[in-house]
Amino acid sequence: MQLAHNGASQIALERNSGSMLTLRDVGKVYPNGTAAVQHANLEVNEGEFLCFVGPSGCGKSTVFNMIAGLTAPTSGEMTVLGTSAKEARKQNEIAFVFQEHTLLPWAKLIDNVTLPLTLRGVPKKERIAEGERVLELVGLKDYVKVLPRELSGGMKMRVSIARALISRPKLLLMDEPFGALDEITRQTLQDELLHIWQQDPKMSVLFITHNVFEAVFLSTRVVVMTPRPGKISDVIDIPVGFPRDEEFRTRPEFGEYVRTISGVLKH
Ligand code: ADP
Repeated sequence: MQLAHNGASQIALERNSGSMLTLRDVGKVYPNGTAAVQHANLEVNEGEFLCFVGPSGCGKSTVFNMIAGLTAPTSGEMTVLGTSAKEARKQNEIAFVFQEHTLLPWAKLIDNVTLPLTLRGVPKKERIAEGERVLELVGLKDYVKVLPRELSGGMKMRVSIARALISRPKLLLMDEPFGALDEITRQTLQDELLHIWQQDPKMSVLFITHNVFEAVFLSTRVVVMTPRPGKISDVIDIPVGFPRDEEFRTRPEFGEYVRTISGVLKH
């Protein structure tokens, strides 16, 4: 079943329309014989925001790891930004944010967020300017010299997002980034993430979540995966314009999208 219609595609088109990612009949069987993903088909355009939902173990992280070039598909074809996933990663077109912040505890925030540039040998002046840019983007411009241990969980997540954004990625992969945060912090970060995404009309975000409310709030489309073996069973448009705010969360259509997706997940 494919529930997609034109609304969200139109939103993506208004932002940009180049092809970002193509999966054709992609499968992954791990060396131990686990068939993690089967026959995955998906087309993602520039400027989209896709949330992936599905029960634990249905292959969401495997799909993301393949897109990031960290593990290869064992069948089918995959194109990332017109090339292979590995090549796209080498060109720093893809950035990853995990639930666990992977910040260096002894390094000030400016050094944490500029680490990818340091590793690439970017001159200090440019690094600092870019570091300040991304820390400002996530609302932490006054925390440049602070250490991670002085921050709350939500603030650490903001730093992880800033570090991912420093390379100006075209594709931002987020694997359950807000899963460990309390509800209020989570909603604040959802608002902030949409705001950041809207500032770059070409950047696409792929986001894994277990929270259907979060998926509806953030997405132009929601990708539903089913387990054993992991398949993309539905792609559901959320044809509601941006910016989205608190008011969207209280609209009847918001509840209808949540019910539709929850229903599909239970099948
Ligand atoms: P999800 O992100 O939806 O929870 P995963 O992609 O992590 O699902 O896992 C899908 C399936 O593949 C699970 O059965 C998991 O145990 C298995 N799996 C994940 N990584 C590996 C691996 N490196 N080797 C073998 N099996 C794996």
